[in-house]
Amino acid sequence: RAKKSAPFGLCHISEDGMEELDRYLAIKLHLRQAVAKDELLLALQPQVNHSGETTSFEALVRWHSAELGVVSPADFISIAEESHVICDIGNWVIDETLNALKRFIARGLDLCVAINISAKQIVLPDFASSLIARINYYGIPSQMLILELTETALVVDIETVKNTMNELANYGFRFSIDDFGTGYSSLAYLKELPISELKIDKIFIDDIDNNSAKKGAPIVDAIIEMARALNVTSIAEGVETQEQVDYLTSKGCNRFQGYYFSKPQFVQHWHNSELG
Ligand code: C2E
Ligand code: MG
Ligand code: MG
Ligand code: MG
Repeated sequence: RAKKSAPFGLCHISEDGMEELDRYLAIKLHLRQAVAKDELLLALQPQVNHSGETTSFEALVRWHSAELGVVSPADFISIAEESHVICDIGNWVIDETLNALKRFIARGLDLCVAINISAKQIVLPDFASSLIARINYYGIPSQMLILELTETALVVDIETVKNTMNELANYGFRFSIDDFGTGYSSLAYLKELPISELKIDKIFIDDIDNNSAKKGAPIVDAIIEMARALNVTSIAEGVETQEQVDYLTSKGCNRFQGYYFSKPQFVQHWHNSELG
């Protein structure tokens, strides 16, 4: 395609660049109203143990925009994180998750849900107190929630995050380090924080293939070993094949999440059909 340059301030942006910019601005504009317009949906993806039993779910937000159609979290979460919008979304996810847990309890199901907490949200001074207030309002035990933080979230403001994590851990919440191995946290930090779980990023799980039985997948092995040394559980994300399950099982990985077991399922659908 012919490259046409468009003047934009002092720089020149290619046609592709303009399209990208338009998309960015459109997402940014419409995202501000997404919560108010009730355009978000919650999906849950099972996390299973060695026996293939579902022990918990990860809560994953979905956005069906009236103007833009379905927009992937990969495209809108980072834009939401540029402003307080991520906190509106985060609070919506917390409330929706607590609603789902309430219905689980009503049906006698003993299942936990892991939620993704943004760096922007964990550093808010009232994050711990407002989360505790929310679970008490819904009557949900703190033990039913797992809070997923990325390594980036840990290092933004280590002292604040450490205090918040300690307060919540004392209250019974568990913490999982998401996308582990892709960030910049130091092992010294990890040792100081109340962490229950390391979540091995999909990019490392992708390294496990038919050959791994012979060659191994060194980073996966190292993370599982590290979890054991730190006395925390290990969970693999993005598990898609039987080879991966077999390899991870042989290495002692505790739990699995991925399309091999189930794609994320819309909560509404779930409550109506499978739970009756
Ligand atoms: P994540 O927390 O690492 O979530 C795992 C992502 O991998 C999800 O993508 C999930 O649908 C996808 N996935 C799970 N199993 C497989 C698999 O077997 N194969 C493949 N190809 N993908 C798999 P999703 O839902 O698009 O979310 C992307 C990222 O957006 C998440 O990565 C998380 O960082 C962020 N995100 C999603 N929901 C929320 C939320 O409620 N709050 C915040 N702060 N971030 C969220
Ligand atoms: Mg996650
Ligand atoms: Mg992850
Ligand atoms: Mg990931």
